Amino acid sequence: MPELRKDPIHGRWVIISTERSRRPSDFTPEERRPVGGFCPLCEGNEDRTPPEVLAFRDNGTPPNSSGWTLRVVSNKFPALRIEGELNREGEGIYDKMNGIGAHEVVIETPRHEETLATLPLKSIKNVLLAYRDRIVDLRRDPRLRYVLVFKNHGLAAGASLEHSHSQIIALPIVPKRVSEEILGAKTYFHYKDRCVFCDIIRQELQQKHRLIAENQSFLSVAPFASRFPFETWILPKTHYPSFEHMELSQYEQAAQILSDTLKKMNRVLTDPPYNYVIHTSSSPEVDGEHYHWHVEIMPKLTKVAGFEWGTGFYINPTPPEEAEEYLREAK
Ligand SMILES: [Zn+2]
Ligand SMILES: [Zn+2]
Ligand SMILES: [Zn+2]
Repeated sequence: MPELRKDPIHGRWVIISTERSRRPSDFTPEERRPVGGFCPLCEGNEDRTPPEVLAFRDNGTPPNSSGWTLRVVSNKFPALRIEGELNREGEGIYDKMNGIGAHEVVIETPRHEETLATLPLKSIKNVLLAYRDRIVDLRRDPRLRYVLVFKNHGLAAGASLEHSHSQIIALPIVPKRVSEEILGAKTYFHYKDRCVFCDIIRQELQQKHRLIAENQSFLSVAPFASRFPFETWILPKTHYPSFEHMELSQYEQAAQILSDTLKKMNRVLTDPPYNYVIHTSSSPEVDGEHYHWHVEIMPKLTKVAGFEWGTGFYINPTPPEEAEEYLREAK
């Protein structure tokens, strides 16, 4: 059973994952790891993944067989486990709980060679709708407090499988990064009576220095205080606290801006490794006024090193206004 442990100084939780316990020899340097070979996520290999929890099938083929356009399965090596009661306990000064949660894999396409940037719009929309359905379902579990959707693309960004996929982790706590963001937005709202994200959107649409792309309902921007070169955020123009509670028509618009933004990154940075996360409200009833869901895309172009670890500061060698120029112009 994995375990959640809280650092008593910083208040952040870590997952001590016993599922894939590693010895020193298991940490092979990246360049020596083999590529290619058998892929459990490809169509036809459905029996090599845990059973699906959701699938889109145009021709009504039976579950866990071929003929799907998208599948969601439990992670074969989950960081957290769904079975059991949540047990919070202390050990001297330390707090811990057992690793209750969910860890799922969204297989975005049956075809191995496709990536999110090359998929047709309809498939990207289905990926977003799968995220929505899974978040809504996982949030029904009273033990779980937060659902994070994220994607690792490329070896350098932590993807252990080549086949295009994203992941969903549902946690029994609200993670520190998310609660800090919610608190920051709440404090801003307290002083100004306005949503900080709505204010950012208004200013970026007006100034256009950092505006990468835009459609009817969404925009993507290089954030003013970008931590990483070519960091990009996607935000809905309408104030929605949670990703999973938008009108259906919005997901098509979201798919379009995501596709557009990833294609631009591909063009300018030649299929870079990247991570993205979807930050959605932990509790729309509580955060509804001040929190505004968004995607944060972080191309992995630099390595986080000593100064960053020691200070929490990031040194970004590419000003967001320059990143924006390259990306906006890319077709
Ligand atoms: Zn594959
Ligand atoms: Zn807002
Ligand atoms: Zn965020």
